Amino acid sequence: MIIRNVRILGGEPADIRIEDGAIAEIGPDLPGSGGGDVDGQGAVALPGLVDLHTHLREPGREDAETVQTGTQSAARGGYTAVHAMANTSPVADTAGVVEQVWRLGREFAHCDVHPVGAVTVGLEGRQLAELGAMADSAARVRVFSDDGRCVDDAVLMRRALEYVKAFDGVIAQHAQEPRLTAGAQMNEGVVSGRLGLTGWPAVAEEAVIARDCLLAAHVGSRLHVCHVSTEGSVEIIRWAKSKGWNVTAEVTPHHLLLTDDLVEESPVGAYNPIYKVNPPLRTRADVEALRAALADGTIDIVATDHAPHPVEDKETEWSAAAMGMVGLETALSVVQEAMVETGLLDWAGVAQRMSAVPARIGRLGGQGQPIEVGAPANITLYDPSVRTKVDPLAFASKSRNTPYEGMTLPGRVVATFLRGRPTVLEGKLV
Ligand SMILES: [Zn+2]
Repeated sequence: MIIRNVRILGGEPADIRIEDGAIAEIGPDLPGSGGGDVDGQGAVALPGLVDLHTHLREPGREDAETVQTGTQSAARGGYTAVHAMANTSPVADTAGVVEQVWRLGREFAHCDVHPVGAVTVGLEGRQLAELGAMADSAARVRVFSDDGRCVDDAVLMRRALEYVKAFDGVIAQHAQEPRLTAGAQMNEGVVSGRLGLTGWPAVAEEAVIARDCLLAAHVGSRLHVCHVSTEGSVEIIRWAKSKGWNVTAEVTPHHLLLTDDLVEESPVGAYNPIYKVNPPLRTRADVEALRAALADGTIDIVATDHAPHPVEDKETEWSAAAMGMVGLETALSVVQEAMVETGLLDWAGVAQRMSAVPARIGRLGGQGQPIEVGAPANITLYDPSVRTKVDPLAFASKSRNTPYEGMTLPGRVVATFLRGRPTVLEGKLV
């Protein structure tokens, strides 16, 4: 098969020949393959995107998402691999559960599924989970996280960091000091004061990140910081990196675009729980700092934190609503809007931060490789020239809780190829 007329990382037009799931030849006007060619129509070709932070909800909350629908959503967003977070029911804290998710991925998924293992039993923060057994299982777990909860016990966090060194694992921390955020509803600041909602102070995130950077350095292990949301967090991570410590960090698309004043005034009214998310949307100054940090490499990657919720859990009063937003199908468009249209990143920079580096942090062998001869044919074709209104009813995800409904965003995923096999063509699932 030949993918014709694409611009690799936005460069000159070229054709890509695929044989046996790998890239066999790249060049202008390649001789015909005898049918089955795909017209790339001048789209930008990116290496298949890799998400380090996806909630697929299966097992346990199949009303919100399943491995099948979540990975359909991923494929439509241009992803060829996702890491499935551990806060399922039952929690993915044993070799048995991570193997169950891994098998569901092999059977039903439209992209590769790599289970994340819980750090502590039941996400309870009291006892380390079977990290070694999960690493040795068929799922080959390398990323461990209690995401949704913070591993706030410093002794447990130290032990977890020490433990994963044996198999080159990483602890992905959801940094949220629980006492400082008890009952918190939104970012602590001017807007929360006006609205009378309990504030979620930046220091609750920053204090945990600082402690964990010090712990990771102390034991010589790998730390990954989930969904960084404040300017202060960026400064701490920049400092840790300047020391040469093994710390990586992610930012979500929504923290690159949206601010906390949407809770007070937005196209969908005040107090709309569509904007309720953990960590909360912050201020314009935080957004600017996060964009600059992603551009200069202080923040390594974009991760979606795709968090599907059924209507009844979101369309309720603010204080009772679930926290989280779906994000897989809009991620690339939001990154184009926040980072590419602003001149902060080019397509090579986007490919690094949404494919190559997340694959490296997750220790995925066959993903995140550049589009070159010999590499697996994991390819996303993206047309950045169109602008479309976000329609949640068109999502492949089972859930519709997007903060971008009705917004006009740039770009569209035209096609996604997983080891040469199309999962999306003409913007539609295959
Ligand atoms: Zn989280």
